[in-house]
Amino acid sequence: MSLQAIKDAIANKKMICPKCKGSIQQFDKYANTIDAVRDGFNVLEIDSRGERVTLICGNEGCSWKERTEYPMEFVED
Ligand SMILES: [Zn+2]
Repeated sequence: MSLQAIKDAIANKKMICPKCKGSIQQFDKYANTIDAVRDGFNVLEIDSRGERVTLICGNEGCSWKERTEYPMEFVED
């Protein structure tokens, strides 16, 4: 899930807090984990291994937040 997809899902209120079932309002510290591997023939391979983001509910009375590698799990259609 790209950073833009996360932004869009939050803007469209499609990310749902598992605690209060309201829409997640914020995220923080998005990081994409990229491993670069150079082999013996000087070919640089860049392999995206994953991503991490902290999702923050932000709704009144709810303190839920979670650092996750699977932000898609919180998106509802
Ligand atoms: Zn919540």
